[in-house]
Amino acid sequence: MQITDSHNHIHFTEFAPDREAVLARAASAGVTSMLAVGIDPEDCLNALAVAHAHRGILVSLGIHPQNAGTFFPKDVHALARLRDKGPVAAVGETGFDLYRTPGSIDGQKDLFIAHVELARELGLPLVIHDRMGHEQTLGVLDDMNAWSLGGVFHCFSGDTALARRVTGRGFFISIPGVVTFRNAGELRDVVRETPTEFLLAETDAPYLSPAPYRGRRNEPAYVLKAIEEMANIKGMQREDMARITTENFARLFGRSGADCPTGDQIS
Ligand SMILES: [Zn+2]
Ligand SMILES: [Zn+2]
Repeated sequence: MQITDSHNHIHFTEFAPDREAVLARAASAGVTSMLAVGIDPEDCLNALAVAHAHRGILVSLGIHPQNAGTFFPKDVHALARLRDKGPVAAVGETGFDLYRTPGSIDGQKDLFIAHVELARELGLPLVIHDRMGHEQTLGVLDDMNAWSLGGVFHCFSGDTALARRVTGRGFFISIPGVVTFRNAGELRDVVRETPTEFLLAETDAPYLSPAPYRGRRNEPAYVLKAIEEMANIKGMQREDMARITTENFARLFGRSGADCPTGDQIS
């Protein structure tokens, strides 16, 4: 079984003490590809360093919306110089977080617009972070004519109507381990109604552990919990859901992590 974790932060310091063991557990679980997502300029360098040292890790370059006020559009544009420093496959995460940092909405929008410009410059898809900012997020993507870049709404938190709007424009929806929670009925409805060709699975590790690990540090191996739940909802074998979400990941990002034995060979 080939499994893909479409969004994590394996390069974060939370994994510094035992990253080798965490990645070994992921490999034993069948995880062959993952996307390590940067949240500020230095963090992007850390993601590239981890991708260089390990198999199967692609990198997304971005500045998280909650870092608006600390970083500015010029910092987003400066990420372009990292394009050739490793297996860079996406731009983000970017968008709106109106739950944690509602006060910086204007700065978040400026950062988001800069990410769309960067994605266009580099010819890469977008990794969208949308927390309580659905209409604002869709508004920027519409105004910037950004849907043709392709992308994914990571850790999808909308309803089936939003899912239809997003997939109708060709973007993917990434399902986190939250789908295993008892109260995740709306997210299960999204999985049920979304065609499998638009679905990805993610951990967002070290955050958002699935049941039964809730409250502990999340890790890439646990993406299997989301995939099993998604397979149950769809009435499919988990092997098929793993294969389809892995194929979708390769389609979106142009390659799978498995094509990158180590980042060193990417140049
Ligand atoms: Zn996020
Ligand atoms: Zn994230």
